[in-house]
Amino acid sequence: MTTLDPTPVSFGTEDRLAATVTDGALRPIVDRVLEGQRLSADDGMVLFSTPDIWTVGALADLVRRRLNGDVAWYNVNRHLNYSNICALSCKFCSFHRKKDDDGAYEYSLDDIRKEATKATESGATEMHIVGGLHPWLPFQYYLDMLSAIVDVAPRLHVKAFTAVEIVHLARIAKKGRDGDDGIRWVLQQLKEAGLGSLPGGGAEVFDDRVHAETHRTKISGDRWLDVHRIAHEEGLNTNATMLYGHVETCADRIRHMQLLRQEQDRTLRTWATEHGLALESSVDHEGRPHDAVVLHGPDCTGLALQPTPETCATGYYQTLIPLPFIPDDSALEHLPGPMGLENLRTLCVARLMLDNFPHMKAFWIMQTLEMAQLMLQNGADDIDGTVVWYDITKVDGAGTHQEVTVRDLQRAAREAGFNPVERDTLYRSVQRDGREWRVES
Ligand code: SF4
Repeated sequence: MTTLDPTPVSFGTEDRLAATVTDGALRPIVDRVLEGQRLSADDGMVLFSTPDIWTVGALADLVRRRLNGDVAWYNVNRHLNYSNICALSCKFCSFHRKKDDDGAYEYSLDDIRKEATKATESGATEMHIVGGLHPWLPFQYYLDMLSAIVDVAPRLHVKAFTAVEIVHLARIAKKGRDGDDGIRWVLQQLKEAGLGSLPGGGAEVFDDRVHAETHRTKISGDRWLDVHRIAHEEGLNTNATMLYGHVETCADRIRHMQLLRQEQDRTLRTWATEHGLALESSVDHEGRPHDAVVLHGPDCTGLALQPTPETCATGYYQTLIPLPFIPDDSALEHLPGPMGLENLRTLCVARLMLDNFPHMKAFWIMQTLEMAQLMLQNGADDIDGTVVWYDITKVDGAGTHQEVTVRDLQRAAREAGFNPVERDTLYRSVQRDGREWRVES
């Protein structure tokens, strides 16, 4: 039997854009993207409604290549969900349990030490930690968790605790839920104990109606943004998510993206000022009037985000991770959830609207690796990592053991026509020899 090597599939962006744009409503948007102009909310709505999804994909690919060339980032990571016991019961959540429910669990510090040791022995560079809002674990447990990881696996970057958990920790530490001081205090304590960055979970969709209907007791969108703003001020990089495909509208999604874009503008202005970059936020790299901080890839003049621990005195949003709602076992099980083209289009629109986010992630755990390949060709530059254990959501009844090998990730990227590059949590290239690794300087 002859085995054929997979042929990388490539749709050249120029060719795709040169092909007939079948929807006239897209023409001014095509011009704006080619000229590097920022898109409006109305543009975003056209991108969501046009039948010409292929032009939308080609535009997203163009922006993705401007920022990341032909690189497809991946990392070697481990997820740890320390407890599924949660005081809340968000309607779209199938993860949470009450203390006496079947399947409720919490990790001891010894369990956490073992997981961190396993992670570091397998060559992981990152541990991604989130859990429910445990009603009884004291704040000290979280500090001890971080210290234990630093103790047994000092090189692991710990990306941990959603904004929702941070507000919960401020409450249990008796620092209050409201105001900035308690949040800042919690973040400072966690950082000192070993926290490296914040994941992007818990954002859902920033809209009051959606909040009231699906996760009323969870923090509001404004509060989520506050936590990330303070994290950036404390020098922590963060990510952002958008959980879509339930009761929100496309206009809600656009608003969510606009709020993130606005926050990132503010953060990047601070970042650039701190680093003495001659950033003119009202003029783009070719002197055209522009109302935002613009990111350019390394081949262009202008602001290129090349973070290092030394230069990251101010944190910022690294990546957006669009998360499709998965109805199974949730209180919204009657909803259909989004399908493939909807997932692809949402990613494309996010890539085009969020012109100041360096990265877009196709989270294969929720999108599938096959879909992540298509997403790489339509705006995504990151396919996440090897993962291993993930208990939050399951696609089509998958178990909690969800693992791909580095070879799987590399193959997926190459087949899609991209150059797979391992990254650390801060998007620095990693050089690897088996389990040994170092960050490229
Ligand atoms: S989404 Fe988070 S806060 Fe809401 S019920 Fe699930 S674990 Fe708890």
